[in-house]
Amino acid sequence: MPELPEVETTRRGLEPHVVGRRVTAMHIYDSRLRWPVPSDLPRRLVGRTIDRLDRRSKYLLFRVDEATLLVHLGMTGSLRALTQPTPRRTHDHVDLVLDSGAILRYHDPRRFGAVLWIPGAADAHPLLARLGPEPFDSAFDANYLWESTRHRSLAVKLALMDSHLVVGVGNIYANESLFRAGIRPTTPVNRVSKARLARLVSEVRATLTDAIAKGGSTLRDYVDSDGEPGYFQLDLFVYGREGERCRVCTATIRTLRLSGRATSYCPRCQR
Ligand SMILES: [Zn+2]
Repeated sequence: MPELPEVETTRRGLEPHVVGRRVTAMHIYDSRLRWPVPSDLPRRLVGRTIDRLDRRSKYLLFRVDEATLLVHLGMTGSLRALTQPTPRRTHDHVDLVLDSGAILRYHDPRRFGAVLWIPGAADAHPLLARLGPEPFDSAFDANYLWESTRHRSLAVKLALMDSHLVVGVGNIYANESLFRAGIRPTTPVNRVSKARLARLVSEVRATLTDAIAKGGSTLRDYVDSDGEPGYFQLDLFVYGREGERCRVCTATIRTLRLSGRATSYCPRCQR
C-alpha cells in the first residue's frame, strides 16, 4: 500500500512533467474507483493549466486556479508520466493528456483509489478538513503532541497512527519510529513524558525522511517505466522481524497486535 513516502516520491517524480502544463484531453476508461470518477471531469479540466502539484497526507492535489483535482492511490494505485506512446494495460483507468504530449496515467488493479474534483477551497473538503498536521509541519511538535494527548490513555502507537493527531504515519513507520525513540508501542500515550515525545517527533521525521530518500532512487520509475513504481523499504529495525535479534542489543524482537496491526518491538531497547 502506498504510504506517505511513496506518495511524496510520486509527487516529486511527476511535478516537473505537470506544473505549467495545459490539459488537452482526459479519458476515463473505468470510473468505478472508490467513488465514481465524475463524468464531467474532462469538461472541467480540458483547456486549463496545472499550476502546482501538492500533497496533503496521502492525497495528491493538482491545483488548477482555485480548484483542485484530488488523486488518492488507495491500496494498489499508481500514477505515471508517459512521454512516448504507450499501449494501455489492464487496470489503466484514467489518462490525462498534457500539451507537452505527455500522458499522466492512473493504474489501479483493486480500484480503492480516488480521482475527484474539488471546485473551491480544498482544505474544507470532507476528506481533508479533519486531518491533523503534516509530520514535517512545525505545528507537529512535542508541546502539541503532549497537550493533545494528556486526556487519552490509548497506546502511543495508536495515537501516532491517528490521522486527526498527525497524518501519514502508517504501520511500518510507527513501529520503526517508536523503536528509534526507545518507546514501547503499548505505553499509554498520556504516560509518555514531554521529553520523550520530543524524541518521538524527531524520530518520526527521521524515519520518513530516510524512506523518502530511498524513494529518490526510484524517481525514474514514475516516468516511462513498464512496471509499477517500486515501493521502497527502510532497513528495518523491528517491523517484520519477529523472533529475530535486535540490531542494537541482540534481544529477541517480539510481535503483538494492536488494533489488528502487527506491532513489533525490542523488549530491552523500548521501555
Ligand atoms: Zn534492542
